[in-house]
Amino acid sequence: AAGFGDLRAYIRDIPDYPRPGIVFRDITPLLLDPGALSAAVARIAAFASARDVQFVVAAEARGFILGGALARELGAGFVPARKPGKLPARTVSAEYILEYGVDALEMHADALAHGANVLVHDDLLATGGTARALCDLVEQLGGHVVGCAFLAELSFLGGRERLAPFDVHALVDYP
Ligand code: IMP
Repeated sequence: AAGFGDLRAYIRDIPDYPRPGIVFRDITPLLLDPGALSAAVARIAAFASARDVQFVVAAEARGFILGGALARELGAGFVPARKPGKLPARTVSAEYILEYGVDALEMHADALAHGANVLVHDDLLATGGTARALCDLVEQLGGHVVGCAFLAELSFLGGRERLAPFDVHALVDYP
């Protein structure tokens, strides 16, 4: 994980995406670089390594990219949280507020053993609505959120406060 310094250098700014005035932080350059990708996984795993993680729960779609690698690195299982209607077996659901309206994420109802230690992961923490929904799903199934880990955080949006009291870790901050 050494030698790659601040991984911010591998995240590019896309002005006016998806709307005028918004700067989108695009992680795809980091994914293209084998060393940066490896460093990102190792650093998130280092945050989680002392927490006895049994499952990584991640949000469709960008959360799946590092989520699978993290689960492998931690010796944990992987649980996908998906948009409504995508999972084939019985699900639990958690809603979250978007700027215009409400969306939801679902998880298989039998995905977690009761009391399992779970690391919640997504690529980026913005307002915290998505990650909060992931935590709600874990708690609905009796799981224990041992931390929430992200590649990047837009801390000016206050997502970390929204996730309290859970422990939040992000490799790169945009204050
Ligand atoms: P939140 O629910 O407001 O915290 O938004 C986080 C979700 O929106 C995550 O699933 C991110 O993938 C996505 N997202 C929001 N802004 C960005 C961005 O600038 N870059 C990448 N993903 C973003």
